[in-house]
Amino acid sequence: MEHALALLQRLGPDARLLAGGHSLLPMMKLRLAAPSTVIDIDPLAGELGYIREDEDVVRIGAMTRHRALLESELLAEHLAIFTDAERRIADPVVRNRGTIGGALCQADPSEDL
Ligand SMILES: Cc1cc2nc3c(=O)[nH]c(=O)nc-3n(C[C@H](O)[C@H](O)[C@H](O)COP(=O)(O)OP(=O)(O)OC[C@H]3O[C@@H](n4cnc5c(N)ncnc54)[C@H](O)[C@@H]3O)c2cc1C
Repeated sequence: MEHALALLQRLGPDARLLAGGHSLLPMMKLRLAAPSTVIDIDPLAGELGYIREDEDVVRIGAMTRHRALLESELLAEHLAIFTDAERRIADPVVRNRGTIGGALCQADPSEDL
């Protein structure tokens, strides 16, 4: 994570992080995005992929995949709106790769989360 942050700082706003790639890669194919550098953060999925209860707060890591959100018993019990939204997201191929961080940073209001 330190390395990714250092790269972002060094390369500036023209560099983009690549998480699941299900929004950024289609945008690059359509020439709607043309980052100078793509920083692959998939290797951070272990460190940043989690759903945890922390006293009265539920914490979700940025690299948590749609599938993990859909299958989380913790979210189904306490924040079922996530489970409801995830049921509507695409198909297993997209849910296996796409992340909550990517969905929120894409900031497309038509996305389900
Ligand atoms: C065929 C298809 C169908 C889909 N259907 C739906 C649907 O029905 N509903 C829905 O809601 N979504 C849908 N999506 C979008 C899907 O949910 C994406 O996976 C998700 O929106 C983006 O997550 P990602 O991890 O793939 O992000 P990426 O494509 O890797 O990144 C998206 C953007 O966020 C930035 N970013 C990613 N992670 C971080 C981070 N940790 N910190 C800062 N910036 C970050 C990237 O630089 C990029 O600009 C679909 C996608 C496809 C390809």
